[in-house]
Amino acid sequence: MTDLHRVLITGANGYVASWIVKQLLEQGVTVHATVRNKSNTSKYQHLLDINEQTPGSLHVFEADLLESGSFEEAMIGCDVVMHTASPFILQVDDPYEGLINPALQGTENVLETVNKISSVRRVVLTSSVVAIFGDNQDINKVGHDRFTEADWNTTSNADHQPYPYSKTLAERRAWQMVEVQDRWDLVVINPGFVMGPPLSEQSGSESIKTMQQMTDGTLKMGVPELHNGVVDVRNVAEAHIAAAQKDHAEGRHILVNKVLTLLEMSEILRQEFGSKYALPKRELPKFLIWLVAPTVGLTRKYVKQNVGCPIAFNNSKSIEKLGINYIPIDKTLTDHIRAMEVGTKEKMASV
Ligand code: NAP
Repeated sequence: MTDLHRVLITGANGYVASWIVKQLLEQGVTVHATVRNKSNTSKYQHLLDINEQTPGSLHVFEADLLESGSFEEAMIGCDVVMHTASPFILQVDDPYEGLINPALQGTENVLETVNKISSVRRVVLTSSVVAIFGDNQDINKVGHDRFTEADWNTTSNADHQPYPYSKTLAERRAWQMVEVQDRWDLVVINPGFVMGPPLSEQSGSESIKTMQQMTDGTLKMGVPELHNGVVDVRNVAEAHIAAAQKDHAEGRHILVNKVLTLLEMSEILRQEFGSKYALPKRELPKFLIWLVAPTVGLTRKYVKQNVGCPIAFNNSKSIEKLGINYIPIDKTLTDHIRAMEVGTKEKMASV
């Protein structure tokens, strides 16, 4: 185990990154946090508040994924770089502008700066399970009954599944860039669908949107039978920190606790919250979803290759190598809703 001294985290105000910052500050680490616009403090006020209550020390810097060299000032003196910044949006007008360029050029930018800053010994990259598979039905092509770290997404492109494509290109580029030098190493975290208490109301992450739509009545007519590998945001943060600290950490790590359909998630929430929210109570027939897909921003190809297709993951490496003790999924989901119900300050006390 190596102690962490000064850690750079990109996109520090994001849903996942905020939890990494919180846990690092609790451990007394100095955190260099990059945000896109430093003058917009409302996006990272929650981090300033956490900094007041923890032994670590937070320094905020401005950097943009698309601006070459913009991470340099923030990286000076850091031993570890955690690169989490990347848009997590499922529907975009222009897949290059909205997803692929920030993911791929952003990773290149950050790692080119790592090549220049001699204090950096390790990079922890936030990839995703969608760099492992593109469509749920890919499970039938991998030759085993559950996705593993050896699998790669080979089915996404800019027109079909652009977010998975952006994450796959970015992770592949990171592996190429680490191989051509020998000063720093790379450890990758591949989380499934991240759920659990948000520390701020400001994130546009699909994780937050999905939970809002589950509770605000948007999905009350029913949901597609979509199977997702779900994981708690607090476990994802722990995994990043373990990946940075453990000397022998290497390669990719699937972070998934349990595969659940949207309806199963809704049923867990109904047990806890009863009829307080207009939670979905049924699954819509696949044929109906296929029929209306273009009117709700989905392609028929997406529906065909994902709706009604169960998936499974082998998460044993995260348990054995990173020491992850998965938080029960019922707690993940109910803590998420409880955090949405209270303000940021109370939320911090309750999680
Ligand atoms: P999020 O809350 O939207 O965070 C995304 C972060 O990226 C934000 O800080 C955002 O800054 C930043 N960002 C986006 N474009 C940028 C740009 N051009 N320059 C600088 N920063 C930029 O989403 P999240 O769910 O926490 O996702 C964080 C990471 O986890 C991403 O790499 C995502 O692919 C990965 N991941 C998420 C999940 C999940 O279920 N949530 C699952 C697997 C992997 P602004 O706030 O200024 O937009």
